[in-house]
Order: sequence, then C-alpha cells, then structure tokens
Amino acid sequence: MNQIDYNRIRLLVLDVDGVMTDGRIILSASGEETKSFCVKDGSGMKFWKRLGGKLAIITGRQSEIVTRRAAELDVDEVRQNRKMKLPALEEVFAAAGVGPEATAVVGDDLPDLPMMRVCAFSACPSDAVEEVRRQADFVCQAAGGRGVVREVVEHLLKRAGTWPRVMERYLPDGEGNQG
Ligand SMILES: [Mg+2]
Repeated sequence: MNQIDYNRIRLLVLDVDGVMTDGRIILSASGEETKSFCVKDGSGMKFWKRLGGKLAIITGRQSEIVTRRAAELDVDEVRQNRKMKLPALEEVFAAAGVGPEATAVVGDDLPDLPMMRVCAFSACPSDAVEEVRRQADFVCQAAGGRGVVREVVEHLLKRAGTWPRVMERYLPDGEGNQG
C-alpha cells in the first residue's frame, strides 16, 4: 500500500447514495424522493471545514435534497447527475484548486472506483461492494449512512495530528486530546 501524507489532504470528495445515506431511496407516489442523512456526518463535515478543508459531492443521481443538504453543510463543489464521475472530479479539482495528490475520496460502488484510484486517499463504508473495499485505503467500521463521513474525517484529522484542534472547542482543558 502506498504511503499516505495525511497533512497534504485538503479536499474531501463524497459520493451520496450508500455513503452519506444507507443507499435507500424512498419514492412517494407523486415521485418525490426521500433520503436520510446522519447528523454525525454533518458535524464531521463541519469539523473538516472549520480546519480549512474543502468539501465536494459527486453523485450519479440528481435531487433537490442533495442540493439542500450540501448548502446546509457549506459543501464547496456539488456535481449531480454525473454517471461518469472522473470528468466531474477533474472539474472539482479545477474549481477547488486542489489536485489528486491532496484529495481524499469516499465511495461505495463501482462508479466510484475510477475516483478512488486517482486520489491520494480513498475510503469506503463497511457495506461497500467487494471491489471497492479492496481498492480502499481505509474501510470504515460504519455502514453507509451510519457515520461513514464522520469516521473518515476523524481518521484523516487524527492521522494529520489536527484532531486536538477540533476537540479544543468542546474540551478546552485538553482532556479530549488523547485520541
Ligand atoms: Mg454510491
């Protein structure tokens, strides 16, 4: 496995279905879609931003729910309805001014593999498909929609040594700085 320079990672790219959600899409009779997101993922994304990281979402589907969730969490770049994810990733690199050597990506299914192969770090949920689990540098304990993004953010920040800066806000006396 390649050596990962965690201090270089500045951009975190996320797939939506199966990563930020459990992969279920609930369709109403009127055709409206519902997805559910994990609050712990949301706070993880806020920690990442607070420490100066950039966030991107690249998804093969299109939904207003994703637009709203992304706005709520101050996601820098959102690309929806992109079945081919690599060209979308190239756009995100250009827009964010960050290259693959400074990018971490989280995916769960085959369309995510090309992104996972080019980025410096890749992660997946515990219930990702086998080929993705084999490609990932880090397989989460959490399943999709159950805190995957939070787990990845904690992993990245702890390896980079910057997690204590997150904890400072909650335990200013330093008790929480062991992790
Ligand atoms: Mg997916």
